[in-house]
Amino acid sequence: MKSLKLAEFGKPLQWVESETPKPKGNEVLLKVDACGVCHSDLHIWEGYYELGDDERMYIADRGVNLPLTMGHEVVGTVVETGPDAKGAQKGDRRLIYPWIGCNDCKYCITDRMHMCLSPGSLGVFKDGGYSDFVMIPHEQYLVAIDGLKPENACSYACAGLTAYSALKKMMPLDKDETMVIIGAGGLGLMAMQVVKELTAAAVIVIDVDDNKLNVATQLGDFMTINSRKENPLEVVMNATNGKGASAIVDFVNNEATATAAFNMLQKNGTMVMVGLFGGKLTFSNPVVALKNLTIRGSYTGGLAELRELIEIVQNKKLKSIPVQTYSLDAADDILAKVKKGEITGRAVVTP
Ligand SMILES: [Zn+2]
Ligand SMILES: [Zn+2]
Repeated sequence: MKSLKLAEFGKPLQWVESETPKPKGNEVLLKVDACGVCHSDLHIWEGYYELGDDERMYIADRGVNLPLTMGHEVVGTVVETGPDAKGAQKGDRRLIYPWIGCNDCKYCITDRMHMCLSPGSLGVFKDGGYSDFVMIPHEQYLVAIDGLKPENACSYACAGLTAYSALKKMMPLDKDETMVIIGAGGLGLMAMQVVKELTAAAVIVIDVDDNKLNVATQLGDFMTINSRKENPLEVVMNATNGKGASAIVDFVNNEATATAAFNMLQKNGTMVMVGLFGGKLTFSNPVVALKNLTIRGSYTGGLAELRELIEIVQNKKLKSIPVQTYSLDAADDILAKVKKGEITGRAVVTP
């Protein structure tokens, strides 16, 4: 097999040829059909997250070992199964749930492997989809995607699932309430694609890029704010008659966006922090108590949630977010574009 590997943080990826492994036990070998390039691939490639105040959290300290084949948004076709992997068949085209766990703890046995304390995530701790083949430890991580194209389906494994799980943490919302989505990148667009299936609340989208906001308005009936041109706090307050938003999901989550989000929250409001752009949020403790606020994080989502999401996409025939397909050779260039915010929707590579 031929894989594009991260051998050194911050350096160009390298092609490595190795023997294609044979699946044992419950393992399944798949030929990669499509693999999404996620913003977190950029963090892995760079080797750190910005924590604010010039502090960094290093990827190597989190147990990521190089060389690594990145890529955790993978659709593949089963080519070989281990003797115990009865639930998978040669020729099946499947989306891989990448948040692989220990398969033994209370989270793993209830389809919430993303919360496992011994994670083995694909493309992070195990070799992922920047390759022609990928091996997974158990057939339970395969999700059927009948009727969906591989390049449209792959990003549900991370961007779609992350957006969906974050939205669910803010529900229920009534139709006279207002939700704010900060960031119209891959995650934000995924949230816009599915949000109307979860609530009739009004939705306001904030971004700094008019192109991305234009795509947002094509996905649904959303009010948009370009925060480079208008003060988002003022606009949200005006749009809600001075009440503020009931729920805010921040897919950027830097100091500026998190501060704006906090100040827009109305009484009983919920703020969900998702983005990994770095920085710190400072707030007055009494305000959180007096306004009965909920501030929480959300990271990826469970296998059961991924199945739910795919079912919604299939049954409601949801319009896909824009997808640009590239050859895997272009991965370095795509990561550079992701860093500059130049990808509208999702970049997907094919081997
Ligand atoms: Zn576990
Ligand atoms: Zn991701």
